[in-house]
Amino acid sequence: MAAILNPRRTVSELKELRSLTGDENGAQRVAFTSTWAEARQWLRSKLEELPGIEIHNDAAGNLWATLAGDSEKALLIGGHIDSVPNGGWLDGCLNTMAGVEILRRINAQYQGKPPVTVRLVDWADEEGARFGKSLFGSSACSSNLDINEARGLKDKDGISLPAALKEHGIDLEKVKDAGKELKNAAAYLELHIEQGPVLLDLDLPLGTVLGTFGVERHAITFHGQAAHSGSTPMNRRRDAFLAAAKMSPEIYRIAERSGNGVCTIGSCTTKSGIVTSVVEECRITLDQRHLDARALARMLSEAKHASEQFAAEGNVKVAWERLWQIEPILFNDELIELCGEAISETGAKPHRMPSGPLHDAAEVARSDVPTVMMFVQSLHGISHNKIEDTKEEHLEMCVTAFDKLAEKAIFWIASEK
Ligand SMILES: [Zn+2]
Repeated sequence: MAAILNPRRTVSELKELRSLTGDENGAQRVAFTSTWAEARQWLRSKLEELPGIEIHNDAAGNLWATLAGDSEKALLIGGHIDSVPNGGWLDGCLNTMAGVEILRRINAQYQGKPPVTVRLVDWADEEGARFGKSLFGSSACSSNLDINEARGLKDKDGISLPAALKEHGIDLEKVKDAGKELKNAAAYLELHIEQGPVLLDLDLPLGTVLGTFGVERHAITFHGQAAHSGSTPMNRRRDAFLAAAKMSPEIYRIAERSGNGVCTIGSCTTKSGIVTSVVEECRITLDQRHLDARALARMLSEAKHASEQFAAEGNVKVAWERLWQIEPILFNDELIELCGEAISETGAKPHRMPSGPLHDAAEVARSDVPTVMMFVQSLHGISHNKIEDTKEEHLEMCVTAFDKLAEKAIFWIASEK
């Protein structure tokens, strides 16, 4: 049997999946729905064509397809076939379908017995679109999932997460049993569309991902005093909105000083919120991200100092409340090297970049499995939208490059004692 990788087949299978599970508004493979189950069944049928492959779902609903090798040590290739509602045709499923093609190539090349075990994992509910909690399956696997919180989650129709899981044969109380799947994991690889404009602006097809941004997410509330908009002279006001508004240009300066960080004020609410009153209370949210933990801490402390200064200037008070936080997660140096080599050998210029969004890869890396991701350019720099797209030549190129990375990783694992 000739061991030929067929990236064009991946593109046509992605189109097949699109017509099977999408409509005029985009992809509709929301996790734990019947369309998602259909997509999973379709994936399973593709995998079952491989002789000798073992397929099962773990306790968290992640699908594992295993090609047993000479060594129990396993190379994991991951993706997610679930999508947001009205999603794009590539987010998540490109990774899974590239993995299927790579399993075919490896199976043919090594007559069903590669030097190390190779496993494809299709994570359950990466997007968190229905219950508002992303990385469900991978965080159950890494044991970072907060079961208490998950128990209380409901969708917009009032259906609870445990009930939705039960319909798909998953018991929420047991999902962390999925952790045993990582027992022999020696490396984890994930391919993904970039979902941003960086590679597009650089006119590069592929990138090596260094890790995922750490995030600091806070609510900042300025407290002033309500006062009549007609009778209160400007110099007598304690205007909570004025202090909050000064944060808006300030975060651009903070982000610029940080190098590659980003800062976003995503919401602003005022009280009493009427047209004839000076703002008594103004609450803004601040989301800060950086790949470097020290730079992220510096961005946070600069924002805190600025808020205190603006509060003092306006004779108002300021209070901070942390909403959420995660450390930067750095990928494995040696796999980062191998990823760059694979990109070069495919004829593309290598480029290293951080990931702004979190991915399942971050959860695997948190479990101390050496991890790396490869990005492929997104047209329009847009994702989670039906206009999400990537040039077909870039799709084929990324499957080829990712396959080269998989082959390098097999030998990297095999050579490590
Ligand atoms: Zn994704």
